[in-house]
Amino acid sequence: MFDNLSDKLDKALHVLKGHGQITEVNVAETLKEVRRALVDADVNFKTAKNFTNVVKEKALGQNVLTALKPGQLMVKLVKDELTELMGGDAEGINLSGNPSVILMSGLQGSGKTTFSGKLANFLKTKKTKKPLLVACDVYRPAAIDQLHVVGDQIGVEVFSDREEKNPVAISEKGIAYAKANGFNVVIIDTAGRLAVDEVMMNEISDIHKAIKPQETLFVVDAMTGQDAVNTAKAFNDTLNFDGVILTKLDGDTRGGAAISIKSVVNKPIKFIGTGEKMEAIDIFYPARMAERILG
Ligand code: GDP
Repeated sequence: MFDNLSDKLDKALHVLKGHGQITEVNVAETLKEVRRALVDADVNFKTAKNFTNVVKEKALGQNVLTALKPGQLMVKLVKDELTELMGGDAEGINLSGNPSVILMSGLQGSGKTTFSGKLANFLKTKKTKKPLLVACDVYRPAAIDQLHVVGDQIGVEVFSDREEKNPVAISEKGIAYAKANGFNVVIIDTAGRLAVDEVMMNEISDIHKAIKPQETLFVVDAMTGQDAVNTAKAFNDTLNFDGVILTKLDGDTRGGAAISIKSVVNKPIKFIGTGEKMEAIDIFYPARMAERILG
């Protein structure tokens, strides 16, 4: 994961670690390399610049030049700041409702349906949770079929209504079905489109207003880099969502989305998807991710 970024950061910090004498010049040079590595990984320029400015200030504040092990101190400062940038403490999802309603949003192909299954499967293993999946894509019958396949695979019931063409009505019926049948978590999989458009935004916004979910999650493909961040912004402007799900982190992604999304929308990444299988889900821990990136 993020091999290229890890290599570049390692090289950037290596210079500083290897120097006999640490000077203001090579600290500045190192931070420039760090910034370059972040930008190359698709972190937006402003975020990267801000990042290195904060690290520089902290380095000066902690007298990095006279520290016993300046190289290690710099690595620690970069790691801490990377953790902070990705969200600080790990955050869970709100399951306080009865049932708790979780609305999934995102573009088509981002991994919404797959993640809905993964999340249901993940919650099912907690003995107190009985999840129901609800299929709200009224445009693509194949999407409903896909959710049924996922549900069968993990042994979770799927609510769908192929006659109903109003997604708000389907989600309401799904929640009523959950209440009547003892499900305490409802995961609503919605229709996505290939790009942000008004119809999709109005539709998801209508569902959101009608059902008032405890948790609204935005699913995004990490492979889409800067676009992931722009899409997150558009969805957040409409939905004011609670958290981000970053999928396809098992692919050849450069890491920019993971690093910049929190600072752009100020919402935490809650889970990551690391494969197509139902088990390929991880809670996102910023500190662990920073550790992984910096080695
Ligand atoms: P949706 O249109 O948003 O519902 O997206 P899907 O759930 O149908 O996913 C689109 C494609 O991405 C499918 O082929 C999934 O198997 C794949 N996919 C979803 N999540 C992941 C992931 O974390 N890693 C990988 N490698 N593939 C994924």
